Order: sequence, then structure tokens, then C-alpha cells
Amino acid sequence: MVAGPGEVLDLIRHGHARTRGDLQEVTGLSRMTVAQRVDALLAASLIREAGSDRPSGGRRPTRLEFNLGHSVVVAATIDTTHSHIALTDLAGRILAEDSIDLAVVDGPEKVLHGITDSISSLLDRTGTPQARISGIGISVPGPVDPRTSRPSQPPIMPGWDAYPIVEFLHDTFPVPVLVENDANAMALGEHSEAFKDCSSLALVKISTGIGTGIVINGRVYQGIDGGAGDIGHVRLGDHPDVTCQCGARGCLAAVASGRAIAQKLSESGVEAYSGRDVGELLARGNVEALRLTHEAGRRIGEVMATVVCLINPGVLLIGGALASSSLLSGVRETLYPMSLPRATRNLDVRLATMGDKAGIIGMTRMVVDEVFDGKAVNARLNEPTAAP
Ligand SMILES: [Zn+2]
Repeated sequence: MVAGPGEVLDLIRHGHARTRGDLQEVTGLSRMTVAQRVDALLAASLIREAGSDRPSGGRRPTRLEFNLGHSVVVAATIDTTHSHIALTDLAGRILAEDSIDLAVVDGPEKVLHGITDSISSLLDRTGTPQARISGIGISVPGPVDPRTSRPSQPPIMPGWDAYPIVEFLHDTFPVPVLVENDANAMALGEHSEAFKDCSSLALVKISTGIGTGIVINGRVYQGIDGGAGDIGHVRLGDHPDVTCQCGARGCLAAVASGRAIAQKLSESGVEAYSGRDVGELLARGNVEALRLTHEAGRRIGEVMATVVCLINPGVLLIGGALASSSLLSGVRETLYPMSLPRATRNLDVRLATMGDKAGIIGMTRMVVDEVFDGKAVNARLNEPTAAP
């Protein structure tokens, strides 16, 4: 293998080598070359020496660790009614956070200005210089084209199609900016925290809209156009007359999303507009909200049966504002009978565990994987002006 400092960092970061001796063994490099690589990483503060593996006696090889305090990441999740912004360390621990009530329908400029202001205030509040930001990750409630990092005809984000989010943030923060679909970010966040050993995980987010994130072998599967998992606009056969926000008729989102439930609740005299409102009614035990959510779960389970048969995941998580035991039981009622037994015999269908934090943790991990990837680190260390 080619083992520059970047590849050595990869080995340390992923726990494949913990000492200089391990590195020699894994890479086949000489002791002197390993020492040079390690020195370069120490000089750049990318790793740190952390005592030894053996508490007493004999020679004690120094343990090498990825320096989680090397820099900070900004992770933000844009939701239909609000955005959540956090400053995290490189392990995804939240150092400071903020939430702003701007709706995605207010348009990209207003929302992104709000996020930029919020990032500046988080930096001020924590006394963090802007130069310590190593990257920004931002999730949006719609598909993102993986080639351009721009929203790709997002059905519930009017005005955002092909909007240059990366360039907008670059004007204020000249660091790598990643944009990802919200369900993908949440799926990756849940995977990092609780399901690291699962090689195939899916998360369906049911809030104002409906979307699915898929993590295969530790990486998000985006599809060719960023459309993988966008199940909200799959047409149901028996609802031809319900018009969806996307303009089509009979979409899953038109009958089973938070928006659809909120509309039905409003018609029956209970005030609700968004998935978040429905989530609050569920938490308060509103009987009609519980009933409609359970029924929505049954419709979502029908579509998820196809998803489960297609990718055969080990874990299927139900997340988003509507995630609740009524939704989960509805999904289970249709998913199991409509799927092949082989696709579900090792399937764990359960509620997501992290709530709003999943998207933040997922975006942090995506940024860290990109910015501290071996090749990226080699390129930076080879620049004559490479800063430590
Ligand atoms: Zn639709």
C-alpha cells in the first residue's frame, strides 16, 4: 500500500493501528519512515500521543490517537419549519448549539442568512476563532444532486432547486461545505452512534415530508441523482384523487406525511400545520393524532415492504417528528405481512434513538470523513503553506 501521512492517519483514526509498532506491522514501512509520518502528523496537530497501553512495567509504547480537538465542525440541519445549528468536535460532541425558526418556504437566502448569523454567534459564544472550523455540513429536506451538491427538484422546498448553498456559505466561511439529504444524514448519525456493526441500515424519516436514508457498509447510498430513498412521492394505487405538494396525485406523502395528517386534524378542528405540530399532539396523547398516525404508519409500511425486499437491511429505523409507538406499530402491521420472510427474518424495525441530534452527528461524520480522508490530508501536508 501507498502509505503517506494521510494513510497513516486513516489507520489511527479508524482504530487499525494504535502505536508506531502497529503502524510498521500494518504498512510494512520501516521504523524510520513510520517515525517521519507520525512526526508530520504530530506537527500538524492531527494526532496526539496519549500515554501507553500498558499501565506498568517494561517498555511502554506510546499510544497514538486522532486529535479530536484539532478543529471544530459546523453541522446544521434545515427542516421545514426550523433549523438546528451546532458546533461540534471531531467526534461529533456538541460544543454549542442553536435553533432558528425559519421555514424552508421562506427561501434559501433568508434561511442561509439565518444560519450564517447563527454560526457567527456560536463562534462568539464559545470564543472559537473562525479559522478553527475545518468544515461545514448542512442537511436539507429534499434530494441533493451528488455531482453539484445542490438541491435537485426538492418537492417541499420552493425556490431551492439547484440553489448554490455551498457557494453561499463559502462567501463567509472559506472551508469545505457538504450538503446532504436530511434522511441520509440522520441514517448516518444513527449508524455512527448505535449501529456501527450493521452493514445495511435504513432510516425512514416521517416529519412534514417522508424520506429514507440508506447506509451500506458505513457509507450513505445516494443513488445516481441523489434520489435514492425518496419514497415520499411513490404513487399509491388507491388514492388517485389526493393532490400532493409535488403536483402529482396519490403520493405516499399526500396521505401519510405530517403535512397530510396536520391537514386532516385541521379539518376536524384541531390546529396543526406541520409535522412538528403533529409530533407535539402525539406527545400530548391527542387521540385523533394517534389514530391518524397509526393509519399513516400502515401506508408507510406498505411502501417500506418494497424497500426492505430490495435492500434487505438489518435495521430499519423510524425517525422524524412523527416517530412514535403508534407510527411504529402501524408500520409493522403492514410491513411484515407484505414482505418476504427472508427479507425480514433478521430485520430489526424500531424507533430511531437520537431525535434531532442524529442529523447533526451524521453531518459531522460526513465532514470529518471528507476533510480528514488520507488523500485530502496528504494533499494539504504537501502544500508549502500547509498550516499546522
Ligand atoms: Zn408527491
